[in-house]
Amino acid sequence: MKQPKYIFVTGGVTSSLGKGIVAASLGLLLKSRGYRVTIQKLDPYINVDPGTLNPYEHGECYVTEDGAETDLDLGHYERFLNQPTSQANNVTTGRIYQSVIEKERRGDYLGKTVQIIPHITNEIKRRIKMVGRGGDYDIIITEIGGTVGDIESLPYIEAVRQLRWELEENNSVIIHLTLIPYLAASGELKTKPTQHSVRLLMESGIQADVLVCRTEHQIPKEVIAKLTQFCNVKPGHVIECLDAPSIYEVPLMLREQHFDDVVLRELELSTESNPDLLKWKEFLNNWRTPQKEIKIALVGKYVSLQDSYKSITEAFTHAGARLQTRIHVKWVYSGDLKPGNLSENLSDVDGILIAPGFGDRGTDGKVFAAQFGRENGIPVLGICLGMQMMAVEFARNVLGLENAESTEFNTQTPHPVINLMEDQKNVTNKGGSMRLGNWSCNLKENSVIHEIYQNDSILERHRHRYEFNSDYYDDFDRATFRPTGINPETGLVEILEYDNHPFYIGVQFHPEYKSTVIQPHPLFIAFVNAALKYKFKQEN
Ligand code: GLN
Repeated sequence: MKQPKYIFVTGGVTSSLGKGIVAASLGLLLKSRGYRVTIQKLDPYINVDPGTLNPYEHGECYVTEDGAETDLDLGHYERFLNQPTSQANNVTTGRIYQSVIEKERRGDYLGKTVQIIPHITNEIKRRIKMVGRGGDYDIIITEIGGTVGDIESLPYIEAVRQLRWELEENNSVIIHLTLIPYLAASGELKTKPTQHSVRLLMESGIQADVLVCRTEHQIPKEVIAKLTQFCNVKPGHVIECLDAPSIYEVPLMLREQHFDDVVLRELELSTESNPDLLKWKEFLNNWRTPQKEIKIALVGKYVSLQDSYKSITEAFTHAGARLQTRIHVKWVYSGDLKPGNLSENLSDVDGILIAPGFGDRGTDGKVFAAQFGRENGIPVLGICLGMQMMAVEFARNVLGLENAESTEFNTQTPHPVINLMEDQKNVTNKGGSMRLGNWSCNLKENSVIHEIYQNDSILERHRHRYEFNSDYYDDFDRATFRPTGINPETGLVEILEYDNHPFYIGVQFHPEYKSTVIQPHPLFIAFVNAALKYKFKQEN
């Protein structure tokens, strides 16, 4: 089996420069030239995974097919590469230590003192190599979270240094992403922070091979030359990464500078094939020149950090481009919604997305938003908690079940239309214990959802503990808020759709995780279409 080649993406100067987007863009360029590529993220925090992190702090928690709760960068990897990632694609310091400590307890290191070097670094190297073990990939891109110089990322940098040494020449390449700040007062782009950051990396024994420089202004030739010389990289190895109007422009910007050729040459891989970016460009053209526009309210609790809903807004971008429609997201904090201000907040939108979430703050607002959308014929899509709140609203206001509620928020409710899943009842650990990842769902014939998916059975990703209570199945069905998607093994209700409405669908799963640039999600396309129809009707 041929050994894969390794690309490491490190970051310097400051965080939030978009390492994930650069890694995903490079992955796309290499994949579009016929290479089999995957991308992995190493996160230097101590949590075993981000599943228990507050979205305010860390943005969205992404979920893979195999049920891993991961960093949101994995969402970018999937959306750019149009291929799934897995548990192995996201490794945290917590997970590394967890396995080392488990081994220590088992006696695997008997007699030895367990140390950061070599035990932690060995485990990091093992995790990096593990992704390529099946022989499925020619190239593995590993993004190292954090910024060079952080105490937390030191073991990762050291592991990369060792691995690079073990791999011998031309089997790995180091890409260092930095910032070239612009000083408005003197009108200059400054290279010093980058020089320092490259030097810091060198102190750990790693020479950057390629610099990718984030910048607000084009970098003049002399500045590029200076960076090349002072940072000790080959000519052509300083790549400019200008702020872009869309993250999806980045691969093309990097391609123009032959970023992929530079990397392939360093790895002694062929540069003969031309990248096939036809579909990507088609998407971008549609995105750039929308013919229509709509406004969708995103009703959620974490709206103050929009990264909390990353996959949802990206899914809108994909579906919007497919329909040549610019989608303006109106961020609505669910905690602010009251019966008295619904019209003020929601009557100017063409669709309402009721977002996933945890905890009871703002859930009443979600119920009110659902009611407003249902009663006014505004298209509504509810995801996970959103679907659950649509069920609560329907139970209260249509079925007349007073104080109907999810037992997540009121265990004493007389009408627990949403309750804890049976197999969750004995769960005490919070980490990684929800119903996670891909579950199948059978779609009923003669349903809107069947028409949308054009399929009898689907696989979608989940992340929840509560579910629709089947005791209310018949009541809902009779009142035509019909359960139209059912898990074949457990009978769990995964989809509710209301007949007396142009588009009123709640799904227990997260369709947003599956949407990619090349394959926008059918449910998002259908929702956007419904919003377009609604807007057209309002105007005529
Ligand atoms: N809190 C709800 C549950 O656990 C919904 C979760 C979600 O929206 N992802 O079932």
